[in-house]
Amino acid sequence: MKRFTRDQALRETRALLGEQGAVKVITCSLGTGPGGVRRCSAIGIHDADCRGGAAAYVVGIKYEIGPVHLRTISHRGEGSTWEIALADAALHTHRLGCAACKSATKMADLCEHGRPLLDAFTRARTARFRLPNGRLSAAGLKAEAATRPGCVRLAYARSTGLLVGLYRAHEAGIESDEETPWATVCEEHGGVVCHTTRKLAEGWMVEPETWCPVCQEARGGPKAYPDGPAPGGGAQKTKDEE
Ligand SMILES: [Zn+2]
Ligand SMILES: [Zn+2]
Ligand SMILES: [Zn+2]
Repeated sequence: MKRFTRDQALRETRALLGEQGAVKVITCSLGTGPGGVRRCSAIGIHDADCRGGAAAYVVGIKYEIGPVHLRTISHRGEGSTWEIALADAALHTHRLGCAACKSATKMADLCEHGRPLLDAFTRARTARFRLPNGRLSAAGLKAEAATRPGCVRLAYARSTGLLVGLYRAHEAGIESDEETPWATVCEEHGGVVCHTTRKLAEGWMVEPETWCPVCQEARGGPKAYPDGPAPGGGAQKTKDEE
């Protein structure tokens, strides 16, 4: 895969952010985190398993402070490649001005402009994990899950072939009762349902067409949401419509 050079990244940044657009590269170092574990100083840009010394790419807007004219960059996007940093900056810039996307930890809240930007960002971030069929490899699913708040697992549903996530509802910012702390999310359509146990939730991950309204429609109209046991066994509860 061909990567942007610094000059190309700068051109793209200026096209996105205007003439004040600027780029910089930071090299991460290792620090000591909780429990004496050595951690990358660019965590959030790099993967959790970064060994240090890797480049972190930043795009943003330059400004000068005070009498010494200290030049600095206000970060708009960051990533482990220029492509990721640019895609991040495009999404971030949109969110700054978009009422629908401001509370964007909730994926389903994105507007019709925000959604393609989020997809582009996810694609850029996961490019190195893509298989020839466009799906993420097992390592890619794991890495992507690690970047999403509350996400414990991502998998392709057996029935629809679409990406489905398993989340701790509270950590993910998904509204849910105490007795149903586990949420399955259709990543494609934003359909959500909450469950009493992790085992039960994992059981329902395999067939999102029983609980995601859009998957349901795509499969030829309503298939009644079953009252009976999940493929994993037990009962479940539907999230209220908002
Ligand atoms: Zn690092
Ligand atoms: Zn938006
Ligand atoms: Zn769906």
